[in-house]
Amino acid sequence: MNNKPLILIVEDDVPVRNLMTVTLKSNDYKFITARNGAAAIMETSSHNPDIVLLDLGLPDMDGVEVIKKIRTWSNMPIIVISARTEDKDKIEALDAGADDYITKPFSVEELLARLRVTQRRLSVMQAGVQSPVFQNGKLSVDYAAGCAYLDGEELHLTPIEYKLICLLAQNVGKVLTHTFITEKIWGSSMENDVASLRVFMATLRKKLETGGKTQYIQTHIGIGYRMLKVE
Ligand code: CA
Repeated sequence: MNNKPLILIVEDDVPVRNLMTVTLKSNDYKFITARNGAAAIMETSSHNPDIVLLDLGLPDMDGVEVIKKIRTWSNMPIIVISARTEDKDKIEALDAGADDYITKPFSVEELLARLRVTQRRLSVMQAGVQSPVFQNGKLSVDYAAGCAYLDGEELHLTPIEYKLICLLAQNVGKVLTHTFITEKIWGSSMENDVASLRVFMATLRKKLETGGKTQYIQTHIGIGYRMLKVE
C-alpha cells in the first residue's frame, strides 16, 4: 500500500513541472498537476491533495489568489514555489496562508527536504491539534497548566515568551511571518514590535537551545520564524 501523500503540482513552466514530476515519481509520491490557477482550484477541490506545490507566477492569476481561495475551505499544506527572490512576495504568500516557500532555481534535494518537513507537519495536524500537551523532542508544552518543559525541567518563561512558544508550537513546521506573530502577541504590527519580537525570540531561543544541539526555532531572515519538528 502506498501511504505517501498525494501532491498537487501547480506550475505552468514545462521544464520545471517535468523536473518536479520526475522527482516525485522516482521518490514514490503520488501526484497530479495543474497548469494555471483555475485548474489548481478545481483539482484541489475535486482531489483533496495532501500537499500543494504552488508556483506564484501563473498565466491566469497570481498564486496568492489561489492560496486565498483554497484557504476559504481547507487548511491543506501549501508550499509556494517562486522565481521571485523578493521577500515581500514570500511574506504576502505566507500571510495569505502558505506554509512554506522554495525559491527557484531549487535543487531536487531541497524540494524533497521541504516535502518531508511538510509531511511531519501534516502528521502533527492529523494527530489532532486539540492535544492538551504538545511534545516535540525534549520540549513539551502543557497548555492546560500553562507551562513548558525541556527534558522534564520547567522552563522559566516570561508571559510573552510563553505566548510565543505556544504560537510556534501550534504552528509547528510552518513559517510564521513577523506580522502574523506580532499581531497574535501584541495585537498590532508596528516597526518596533518586530524589533521587540527579535529580542524576545533571542531570549526564548537561549532558554530552549542552551547546552543542547537541538534547534527548535529556525530564523527566516527578513521574513519570520518557524518551529522545527524534531525527530
Ligand atoms: Ca510560472
